[in-house]
Amino acid sequence: MNLVFLGAPGAGKGTQAKRLAASTGRPHLSSGDILRSEISEGTELGTQAKQFMDAGQLVPDDVVDRMMIARIGRDDCADGFILDGFPRTAVQARELDEALEELGRPVDTVVYLHVDDDEVVERITGRRVCSACGAIYHAKSLPPKVEGVCDKCGGRLTQRKDDTVEVVRERLVAYHRQTEPLIEYYRSRGLLRRVDASRGIDEIQADLSAMVNEVAS
Ligand code: AMP
Repeated sequence: MNLVFLGAPGAGKGTQAKRLAASTGRPHLSSGDILRSEISEGTELGTQAKQFMDAGQLVPDDVVDRMMIARIGRDDCADGFILDGFPRTAVQARELDEALEELGRPVDTVVYLHVDDDEVVERITGRRVCSACGAIYHAKSLPPKVEGVCDKCGGRLTQRKDDTVEVVRERLVAYHRQTEPLIEYYRSRGLLRRVDASRGIDEIQADLSAMVNEVAS
């Protein structure tokens, strides 16, 4: 099961990919999470990526391609993987296809989580992330039991630097311009499954579990 999550920022890719990874035992590979950990470790790659991320722009293709393709080549991906946030441009999609062909691990399904732009802004500006375990909350729709504290590990909840209204608008521009064309790219290959992501988290998760069972059978 080699799966790609596609959709606007805030569509729920991370939330659903994490849940699916937990239920299937497949690794969840989030390009955003990997870039953020490169930044917090102060690596050269992180330093290169930071200025783009802070401005809501995409990190250059060659940087992200190298990073993600190396990750997918690791042993824990041999029985499948769940990609979240990669690919995000036509160049990345082609590079990924080539690399997966060489590895003999082609993409099976692309889940396209669809939400409107207004909903994206509402979701992202209310998003809070655990600084210790990465669990995702929302100030209104998925609040933690104790404000500012992660239910799962007791870690401190923070707002991502790029989750402000101004940066979200930029990220949406990048999404429509550079990522949306991938919907057609994957649809024309018969891989795309469109999911209405304006619904509740549990309802979407149930749909995705059913879909994965169907793909696996
Ligand atoms: P995310 O956590 O997926 O919302 O990504 C946060 C930011 O990381 C994006 O706004 C981009 O700046 C950068 N990023 C993540 N994935 C990619 C990618 N595949 N290509 C280019 N930039 C990316």
